[in-house]
Amino acid sequence: MILIVDDTPENLISLKRVLETHNFEIDTASSGEEALKKVLRNEYVLIILDVQMPGMDGFEVAEAISGYSKAKETAIIFLSAVNTELKFITKGYLSGGLDYITKPVDMSVLLLKVKTFYRIYEQNRKLIDIQKALLDEIEFRRQAERKKDEFISIASHELKTPLTSVKGYMQLLERSIDKGDTETLKKHLGKAQVQLEKLHDLIADLLDISKIESGKLKFNKRYFYIDELLDSVIDIIHQSSPEFKIIRNGTVAREVYADEMRIEQVVINFLTNAIKYSPGTSEIHINLNNKGDKVYLGVKDFGIGIAPEQQKCVFDKFYRVEETAIHFQGLGIGLYISAEIIRRHGGEVGVKSKLDEGSEFYFLLPADSGSETD
Ligand code: ATP
Ligand code: MG
Repeated sequence: MILIVDDTPENLISLKRVLETHNFEIDTASSGEEALKKVLRNEYVLIILDVQMPGMDGFEVAEAISGYSKAKETAIIFLSAVNTELKFITKGYLSGGLDYITKPVDMSVLLLKVKTFYRIYEQNRKLIDIQKALLDEIEFRRQAERKKDEFISIASHELKTPLTSVKGYMQLLERSIDKGDTETLKKHLGKAQVQLEKLHDLIADLLDISKIESGKLKFNKRYFYIDELLDSVIDIIHQSSPEFKIIRNGTVAREVYADEMRIEQVVINFLTNAIKYSPGTSEIHINLNNKGDKVYLGVKDFGIGIAPEQQKCVFDKFYRVEETAIHFQGLGIGLYISAEIIRRHGGEVGVKSKLDEGSEFYFLLPADSGSETD
C-alpha cells in the first residue's frame, strides 16, 4: 500500500486517482501527525510526502519514521513546490528520502518512479522474508541439536539412576548373605528386581526409537480380545500403583487383529502417563467401544491436563511439556512410540484435555488391520 501525505486536499485527490487507476492501493493523510499515526498502525511500501505542511513538515515526518522499526523498509518520495533549492533537496535525501520531486508534478514521471520504487521495495521485502525464514530454519536446527544433547543427558541420567540403585542393593545383598538374614535378602532382591525392570523398560524404549527410525519396527499380528488385554494390563498397573482405582466403561465383543504385545505397550504407556501426571488423584477411567469398523480405547485421568497449544506436540519425539517437565521424570518418547505403533496399524491417536482438569488419551484401531500394514 502507498501512503500519500499532503495538506492540500486537491493534491491528495488527484494523486490518489492517478495511482488508483494504475491498480495501486492508496491511503491518505492530510498532516504529518496523521501520517505518523498511520505508519504505526499499517504497513506501507511507499510514502509520498509533501514537504510544506503546517505542524510537522515532511522532513520531520521522514526523520520520525526512520526511527520506527516497522517502517524501516518503507521508501519515501518527497514532493515540494517551494523548497526547490539544492540545500532542501539535500536535506530531503539526508532525512531518508529516496527521491525529491518538485512541483508541479509531471504525473507520468511520478508514476514511473512510483512503479520502480514499488517494485524494488517489494523485492527487498521478499528478500527480507526469505532471510528471516532462513534464520528461523537455522534456529530450528540448533534447537534440534540442543534437544538431542538434552535427550542424551536425560537418558544417561535415567539409565544411571536404576543402575546405581541395583549396585547399592547388590552390596546390601552381600551383607545379608554374610549375616544369613534371608528375610532382608528377599526384600533387597525384590527391590533390585524393580530397578532392573525399570532399566529394561528404558532400554526397550530406546531400542524401539531406533527401530522406528530405521524402519525396522515389525509386528506380530494375531486375533485377540481387547477386553482380555485390559484384564492383564490392569493387573500389572495394580501391582505398581495399588492406590489407583481403574474404572472400565464399555466393552468390545469382537476380536481384533493386531500385535497384542505392542497394543498392550500403548495402553500401558497411556495408563502410566495418566497416573504419573495426576498427582493427588486416585481414579482412572478406561473407555472402550466400537466406532464403526474401529475400536476406540481412551484412558481418562483427572490430573494436570495439557494446554491446547501443547496438545498437538505431545506425540512428537522427545517432546515434554516444559512447564511441568521438572516435576516429572521421563524421556518424552512413550507417546511417540505409542503413536507410531497405532499409525502403523492403520489407526490414529489423539488427546482431549483441559488444563488442570485432566486428559483422555485415546486410539482408534481398525478391528482388522490386515497384513498390508505389517
Ligand atoms: P517417557 O518417555 O518416559 O514416557 P514422558 O512421560 O515425559 O516420558 P510421553 O509419555 O511421550 O513422555 O509424554 C510426553 C509429554 O506429554 C509428557 O512429558 C507430558 O508433558 C505430557 N503428557 C503425557 N501424558 C499426559 C497426561 N496424561 N496428562 C498430562 N500431560 C501428559
Ligand atoms: Mg510417558
